[in-house]
Amino acid sequence: MANKRVLVKFSGEALAGEAGHGIDTQILKYIAEEIKSLVNAGIEVGIVIGGGNIIRGVTAAEDGIIKRTSGDYMGMLATVINGVAMQEACEHTGLQVRMQTAIKMEQIAEPYINRKATRHLEKGRVVIFAAGTGNPFFTTDTAATLRAVEIGAEVIIKATKVDGVYDKDPAKYNDAVKLNELTYDQALQDHIKVMDDTSIALAKDNKLPIIVCDMSIKGNLLDILNGNMNNCSIVR
Ligand code: UDP
Repeated sequence: MANKRVLVKFSGEALAGEAGHGIDTQILKYIAEEIKSLVNAGIEVGIVIGGGNIIRGVTAAEDGIIKRTSGDYMGMLATVINGVAMQEACEHTGLQVRMQTAIKMEQIAEPYINRKATRHLEKGRVVIFAAGTGNPFFTTDTAATLRAVEIGAEVIIKATKVDGVYDKDPAKYNDAVKLNELTYDQALQDHIKVMDDTSIALAKDNKLPIIVCDMSIKGNLLDILNGNMNNCSIVR
């Protein structure tokens, strides 16, 4: 097992399921079981979940009534709601889990403390990093990359609905070609957009490989970490 410590990023929308909003507990359970298979294989796992199933700052601020900064704080709080739910699902599968938030809310979770997070990971606990970076104008992709670098993860895995990165949108173009491996500079190109530029730049600066994979294929996360790269793309 080459990758001992990983950070897995799920979008908020992934939790919503068919409904397209809110939280589907069956999806939570599925994700928790996928994470458990990694922990059982001796992998230390950090998780970042987005908040897009509840609210995004840009959308909240669209008509100018809510300020962007406030909208972003609402988005960060949404990630905490998802984090609490994910924590429950992880515990339900028998995992040990701790949530840490980038904005202090100590009745709900520990504040983010890098050394403490690292200790939890060493003890085999899953750590959920919530409330993004704690700053408006960032995304949870950037928060995930930042935490991955901070905890010394070997790789960040962006678990999505697609099995990797394509040269154009596979939902729109039949002739879209999957790119199994690409450079950070390719990933920064507008039509590719693996993650936002800030997160890719941070990954590039710190030589953190980014894996984009299909989370709906059961066992895919563990397969990837065992070297089966069929259902993913890697940016490095
Ligand atoms: N957000 C923020 N700072 C951060 C992370 C997130 O302001 O460091 C806000 C931002 O408004 C974002 C929302 O939280 O739209 C939810 O996160 P994101 O859109 O990344 O979630 P996802 O698309 O992954 O579900």
